[in-house]
Amino acid sequence: MEQVKMTSLIARHPLIADLSALKETTWFNPGTTSLAEGLPYVGLTARDVKAAHARLTRFAPYLEKAFLETAGTGGIIESELVAIPAMQKRLEKEYGCNISGDLLLKKDSHLPISGSIKARGGVYEVLTHAEKLALEAGLLTTDADYSVLLSPEFRRFFSQYRIAVGSTGNLGLSIGIISAALGFKVTVHMSADARAWKKDKLRRHGVTVVEYEEDYGVAVAQGRKAAESDPHCFFIDDENSRTLFLGYTVAGQRLKAQFMQQGHVVDDHHPLFVYLPCGVGGGPGGVAFGLKLAFGDDVHCFFAEPTHSPCMLLGVYTGLHDGISVQDIGLDNQTAADGLAVGRASGFVGRAMERLLDGIYTLDDQNMYDMLGWLAQEEGIRLEPSALAGMAGPQRICSSPTYQQMHGFSAEQLNNATHLVWATGGGMVPESEMAQYLAKGR
Ligand SMILES: *Cc1c(COP(=O)(O)O)cnc(C)c1O
Repeated sequence: MEQVKMTSLIARHPLIADLSALKETTWFNPGTTSLAEGLPYVGLTARDVKAAHARLTRFAPYLEKAFLETAGTGGIIESELVAIPAMQKRLEKEYGCNISGDLLLKKDSHLPISGSIKARGGVYEVLTHAEKLALEAGLLTTDADYSVLLSPEFRRFFSQYRIAVGSTGNLGLSIGIISAALGFKVTVHMSADARAWKKDKLRRHGVTVVEYEEDYGVAVAQGRKAAESDPHCFFIDDENSRTLFLGYTVAGQRLKAQFMQQGHVVDDHHPLFVYLPCGVGGGPGGVAFGLKLAFGDDVHCFFAEPTHSPCMLLGVYTGLHDGISVQDIGLDNQTAADGLAVGRASGFVGRAMERLLDGIYTLDDQNMYDMLGWLAQEEGIRLEPSALAGMAGPQRICSSPTYQQMHGFSAEQLNNATHLVWATGGGMVPESEMAQYLAKGR
């Protein structure tokens, strides 16, 4: 963007000066509303989320047999919730702050099928598409046992169709694996950020991988274009898909059940703060929506982005949404957090969720590496860099009187709080790659 435009942009939106200087930034949303007020703007309802739960239940008998690692949960793709008290102490020590309340980790990093949060949205959208095709062809009814989808007849049927997607890595991994398992022909358009092992793994599954030297936005645009010319090709649109978004939302009710099981209380006196790494926005947006429906106004959601790729913060803060990119403010969108290397946020997610978010913050890549190392040392849990973005959240909240005043939190409420860091990926990172990540921590 030319100098004059940047100057007037900064005059209207002063935080852009910090963002463009790569300064770690915390933005508390002045436009946060109650769930009741914000819900109509989402454009999706509790009923849509219920339908997503029902669809995943129909597919459970299939998933249980197709992916043996889901047998323990009866074909439901869900992750563990664990307390990380040693990490909490380590963060307090390293950052010289007090994190009041409990610190928990949601291990979507270890979800079956693809080892990342994309095993929610990506898998859900492919299943939705497969179900639609099979129902329309009269091969399936919604009351059938969906394990019939394992049969050669169904694989032959799905092999007439193509699926395409653009990705920085994890979405491609998730969609490639589930699509190939069902029998679809699938093409993944990978941005330059995508790790080699993810592409290799997909090729071993029989997926066509197209590589780009450009970033995520270009990979998506090229994928969309390639799919348009083929009527038998279904393009999964990470920037706009409501279906993908809905796949993430079921996490809300399921987390609530885990909280009850483990005895974690969430109510007016016991607020829940959740920190979600954000790329294009569908994953954290869908999860946050599900959490709001499950916990109402007692849950407070924050998105976390790398300083080099603060696309959602830029879009929501300026109100320009997908009308502005990080490149427009002079940033390079180059980050070690490959899952978050997105220059332009989803306009759909930003507009849907802007009233239901308490804030968005950015953090430096080096801090992600540092926390990656501490988590491995203190808790023996290994994540990819992107998945650590949420870990910087608790100290931002605990050290901000501004935020506490905005919401009128009492000392008692903060002492009773639960901080939940959403770990979004890393469960399948090869040892040698993990050793490199660990070596970068201080
Ligand atoms: C994709 C991804 C995210 C963010 O999800 P978006 O839908 O892109 O916002 C966060 N962490 C990891 C590891 C991811 O792969």
